Amino acid sequence: MNASSVMVWFRQDLRLADNPALSAAAATGRPLVPVFIMEDEQENPWGGASRWWLHHSLAALGDDLARRGVRLVLRRGNPRQVLPALARECGAGAVFWNQRHDPSLAAMDQDVKAALKTEGGTVHEFLAGLLAHPEALATGQGKPYQVFTPYSKKFLQTQIIDPPLPAPDHLVEAEPRPSGLDLEALELLPQVSWDGGLRETWEPGESGARGQCALFGAREMGRYQEHRDLPACRGTSRLSPHLHWGEISPRQVWHQARGVPGSEAFLRQLVWREFAHHLLHHFPHTPAEPLRPQFAHFPWDGDLDLLEAWQKGQTGYPLVDAGMRELWHTGWMHNRVRMVTASFLVKHLLLPWQLGAEWFWDTLVDASLANNTFGWQWTAGCGADAAPYFRIFNPMTQGKKFDPRGDYIRRWVPELAGLPDKLVHEPWLGSRAVLEHLGVQLGTTYPHPIVDHAWARQRALDSYRRMQAG
Ligand code: FAD
Repeated sequence: MNASSVMVWFRQDLRLADNPALSAAAATGRPLVPVFIMEDEQENPWGGASRWWLHHSLAALGDDLARRGVRLVLRRGNPRQVLPALARECGAGAVFWNQRHDPSLAAMDQDVKAALKTEGGTVHEFLAGLLAHPEALATGQGKPYQVFTPYSKKFLQTQIIDPPLPAPDHLVEAEPRPSGLDLEALELLPQVSWDGGLRETWEPGESGARGQCALFGAREMGRYQEHRDLPACRGTSRLSPHLHWGEISPRQVWHQARGVPGSEAFLRQLVWREFAHHLLHHFPHTPAEPLRPQFAHFPWDGDLDLLEAWQKGQTGYPLVDAGMRELWHTGWMHNRVRMVTASFLVKHLLLPWQLGAEWFWDTLVDASLANNTFGWQWTAGCGADAAPYFRIFNPMTQGKKFDPRGDYIRRWVPELAGLPDKLVHEPWLGSRAVLEHLGVQLGTTYPHPIVDHAWARQRALDSYRRMQAG
């Protein structure tokens, strides 16, 4: 037993640099026990893509810590029991962690804190996953914001973002080191290998995050406004999974972008992220229920059998299919296409947004309860500052506007690659003979549209009117 060691509980802060909990623990000069607990009973268990990411991110964190002389202890179970037991085992009187903000996880942390305190332990908590605590901002009436523009204005006026901390350069391992599980014992990787696309797309871990940030770089940050809506172009940062798992902090990204001419639009996205967390904190029921209560009675009478065609990218609408296939292959989808595919599910197919949110939760490497809930409710028209319901994305118009040469579609829907630009967004406009000549047989090599656009649009508007009529 080492009565003077301290523990750092890693969660969604899988990094060494700008990690206030780790830095504060290191600054005590005491031997360190870094721990990660696989929480099997989480209220919203991680989806398949998240679990894949977590496995590799933990491997990277373990290596990074080992290079500094301390080893990551992996445990599994309910932190309410696991953490106090581990603290007892290694005689750690103090536990350091960075706050989590998803309501059920934050509640868990409060319980763990109480359990540790009963045993005489102390807890040191830090803000690290967000730029501002979700309660830091309130309207003039002391209420949570529900509209982005005033939130963002207040955020920019009031929040001072401290510079990021360097990684601690001296860590001391506790002796003896408590035992831990092998990473494989956390069973995070899929049984059936579907993760080839994830492996070729991403490098989870702090060094991967730094690399991604450098790749995006000042040049792209400055041109973000110009390129951000073009899915064929690498015009956005692709930092979302790294930010979600805390392999890079929002503060690091903020300071990297600030001062880059033209980066305001990019910085605004980081504020959207803050806003989404602010909303989830204040309206914790929203992963399951609409923020705007009248939508609880929305008549979702679409055909459930069409859900699978949407999930598999077989709707017959090229932009929708390209997005869904990009998601399946890489665990990520461009924001513009997320909006179009989500709108297609809730408006063209008239299926509940919760079904789409569930699929995204399972397949996205950046699946975040706050951002995903916010994105789906926004698209469905039932959330904060939402798109007006009658704004129904036309997948063809969106494709022509944001993927004018069809590069994105050709990449993800290769069976349409031979079509000329004017047909690639709406292949059904080509005559059978022309299509066949170009290698496309609708209904065989590529599906006919599963719903008619004009009919589906009208049905969605009628359903909205029915809801309003009560
Ligand atoms: P960039 O454009 O480079 O933006 C930088 C960062 O800002 C992002 O990494 C992200 O952390 C944040 N950000 C950007 N856009 C938004 C936004 N609209 N709302 C909140 N934060 C934002 N984002 C997730 O991180 N996880 C999700 O589960 C998620 N689900 C979504 C579901 C739907 C239906 C929609 C419409 C959007 C969703 N988003 C989600 C938001 C957005 O699509 C992604 O954050 C973005 O595409 C990530 O790519 P990027 O890192 O290149 O973003």
